[in-house]
Amino acid sequence: MIFLETPLLARDCRIYIHDVALRLGVPVKGSGLREGIEVFPKHDVIAPGGFGNAIRGPLGIHRGASRRFWFYGADYAVEAQIAYLSRLRKLTGPELQIFIAGKERAKPDDSPKKKSTASGLRGRTARLEFRILEHVGPVRKVGRNYVTRCPSCAEAGHDRTGDNLAILIEDTRFYRCWAGCPKEAIRSALGCPIRMAESRPVQEITS
Ligand SMILES: [Zn+2]
Repeated sequence: MIFLETPLLARDCRIYIHDVALRLGVPVKGSGLREGIEVFPKHDVIAPGGFGNAIRGPLGIHRGASRRFWFYGADYAVEAQIAYLSRLRKLTGPELQIFIAGKERAKPDDSPKKKSTASGLRGRTARLEFRILEHVGPVRKVGRNYVTRCPSCAEAGHDRTGDNLAILIEDTRFYRCWAGCPKEAIRSALGCPIRMAESRPVQEITS
């Protein structure tokens, strides 16, 4: 874990992490490799009004496992962990610039699933493609996304403000519930469960 003294550009931090991984011999996902560590955020820049990757911050509760993951080096209690983390040395902007001087820009990590699905299936199955806008209620535009009530949240009586589901305007195959509903739950709430053959990464909104 590397902490920063001040917020620094994703572009620069990504160069740094990719370089550290390279020197440690740790593979990074996306650079032509299927397996490896993932670097977040996955992109250097986000268009104005857009969403970046959802990231679980340190000591955040993992949505899948419903629990926190602790750092070694302190007791497994939030206060002790925060005290421990705030004692760690933080990387400064000038240090980062020294570390990345002359290093190449990191490649955006969007290769693993997206490329294979876009090339192969697109033409043949375009007609059968699931179009979420045809199934959800009225939407409104917020930045680069359409926003509406999440059908899966709605089933449970949640999301009364109708803004949990974000659908990327640019490519409506990408949508996400900010309360964390998995895409399978969203699709079955719409009465269009995901078929086995369909392995498209529809859950993620990326820039
Ligand atoms: Zn939801």
